Amino acid sequence: MTADVLQSWVAGQWRGGDGDGQLVRDAVTGEDVARVTSAGLDLAEVARYARQVGGPALRGLDFAGRAGVLKEVAAALDARKEELYDLSARAGSTRRDCAVDVDGGIGTTFVYASIGRKGLPQGRIVVEGTQEQLGKARTFAGQHMLTSPRGLALQVNAFNFPIWGMLEKLAPALLAGVPTVVKPATQTSYITAHAVRILDEAGVLPEGALQLICGSLGDFFDLLGGQDHVGFTGSAATASLLRSHAAVTSRSVRFNAEADSLNFSVLGPDAGPDTPEFDLFVKELVREMTVKAGQKCTAIRRAFVPAALLDDVTAAAAGRLSKVVVGAPGADGVTMGALVSTAQRDDVRGAVKMLAAAGRIAFGDPDRVEVVGADAEVGAFLSPVLVQVTDPDRSQPHEVEAFGPVSTLMPYADTDGLLDLIARGQGSLAGSVVSHDPDFVREVVLGAAPFHGRLLVLDRDDAGESTGHGIPMPQLVHGGPGRAGGGQEEGGLRAVYGHLQRTALQGSPQLLAFVLGNGSNQE
Ligand code: NAP
Repeated sequence: MTADVLQSWVAGQWRGGDGDGQLVRDAVTGEDVARVTSAGLDLAEVARYARQVGGPALRGLDFAGRAGVLKEVAAALDARKEELYDLSARAGSTRRDCAVDVDGGIGTTFVYASIGRKGLPQGRIVVEGTQEQLGKARTFAGQHMLTSPRGLALQVNAFNFPIWGMLEKLAPALLAGVPTVVKPATQTSYITAHAVRILDEAGVLPEGALQLICGSLGDFFDLLGGQDHVGFTGSAATASLLRSHAAVTSRSVRFNAEADSLNFSVLGPDAGPDTPEFDLFVKELVREMTVKAGQKCTAIRRAFVPAALLDDVTAAAAGRLSKVVVGAPGADGVTMGALVSTAQRDDVRGAVKMLAAAGRIAFGDPDRVEVVGADAEVGAFLSPVLVQVTDPDRSQPHEVEAFGPVSTLMPYADTDGLLDLIARGQGSLAGSVVSHDPDFVREVVLGAAPFHGRLLVLDRDDAGESTGHGIPMPQLVHGGPGRAGGGQEEGGLRAVYGHLQRTALQGSPQLLAFVLGNGSNQE
């Protein structure tokens, strides 16, 4: 064994697990990067330390104090982000990919620092809404209040966002005064671990506010109860396994899931080849296929175009995809890096075969790719693959998620039929409508909204400032119904409130004012 065991940060100390653990390889060179194991770590001590040290330390700060901590967290990572870029390259990420994960995570933390400073009241509790008068004589009233629970926030994250995934969950939990335990996906845990080390070395976090378990969670769920929160991101299969644990079903641990998703983008009937929307659609499709080599939960998986435009769009997208240079991050001219592992590549190849059975591959060869600066077989490289599905009623495009640089392109005949096809994704994180026809846009938005957590309308008017189909914004909710997990993250203060306990307080108006006024700031 050449690689060292990756250390976890538990109870204020860096500790390695016992035994050989799981070997993680460099996605580009195949070299050993780390061995990951949590065997032998005292997980009960992690839970105790979070609840008895981290919780009181965070609740000892008021909202403004916690917002100040977040700002320092963001600044500490920003100062050393080059180190995170370098490590991310080992997982196959280019600088453009790091803009989403590393810079995206730091930016999200800065935004939450600002939301916390400007959007939360003085003190430590939130008084929600106005007093409700409950008696004719005005001696009895009710008011909602939000307080910090006494538990911990466990995050279980997917491999594709080792930095953003941690920070977008840490920020609202920290503002809510809840200590966090991070369990990163094993495959990219060394990147998360380095970020945690940067934060430890910067000394910006209150003691116990953040801990890190690299490797398996063991029986950690057995330790969770009704004051705790679990934020899960990953596959629908793991989400379903975890949400059926007794911690959730019997002890009512709050459980939020962000799972996989067959996101759509649609080109409007008004957007022929000579319109700006046609170019915007094709550009966005190709960008979504290639950023992070398509390993984005929000990436466009199903692209719908008017039947009459199918060939034009296919040709334009293929033309753009042919300019993509696959290879080692940082090598000359490379615009798309590697998948996270060769095992992931095998999964995606399998999914492409299922999708291709419903149509034809219009661009790319899942078994062959030219690679710059690396060995195509040793590294986890894959060509972008566009699958044209001429019969959109086939089941595969609406069921199979190829978690790589892969999209399906399908025709639609009319708006009603389009909405039926969109709904067959069974709930998604994001959808986009690319059109300059307000009537068409309104019909699609209203029809698709019940199935989506976020919808983007892209046209010539907003393209200059648009953040794009695949980028969740900290101010807006991220999550989706059904297959997408049924959860919600971010959305500004909504995520902070998601950690707080809402209590309806009833009593005389004077007493309510007293309890929720001066007395509320004491722990
Ligand atoms: P995954 O295999 O479900 O793993 C997700 C996390 O769960 C990892 O940390 C994993 O740890 C952990 N895990 C797996 N089995 C577990 C168990 N029995 N008990 C406790 N933890 C367990 O998913 P993935 O392959 O990392 O991620 C890819 C999927 O995530 C894709 O389907 C993608 O669509 C989805 N995703 C969704 C979002 C979103 O925001 N909705 C974002 C990113 C990705 P180990 O790595 O140690 O197994």
